[in-house]
Amino acid sequence: MFLIFGIKRMSRRLGTVFALCSQCHTPAAQVIGRRSTWFSLFFVPLIPLGTKYFSTCTLCGVSTKLTKEQATQMVATAAQSSATAQSPTPFPPSPAPLPDPPAQALPPPPSPTS
Ligand SMILES: [Zn+2]
Repeated sequence: MFLIFGIKRMSRRLGTVFALCSQCHTPAAQVIGRRSTWFSLFFVPLIPLGTKYFSTCTLCGVSTKLTKEQATQMVATAAQSSATAQSPTPFPPSPAPLPDPPAQALPPPPSPTS
């Protein structure tokens, strides 16, 4: 008899908020995520070993640890603000089509050299 066991890590994206990055000090989208570690037996996660919350800056890519309260609060705030937003336009209106390039004048035929 043999056992197959191991550690399984699962990441889940909770939401995206627009906040000031603590690393690059630039307002940018921060991805709030949750990473949980499980003890797995026969590839089935059975026992939770721990859960970490983090935010990743989409600009500089630095991940910052968060507490569970911070993460849930940030996601809740983001959900609230997006719900109250007044029908945002997801895409800017398409620009006017470019005018056709002017017809190129044919180059003069090469003059025969005599
Ligand atoms: Zn950053």
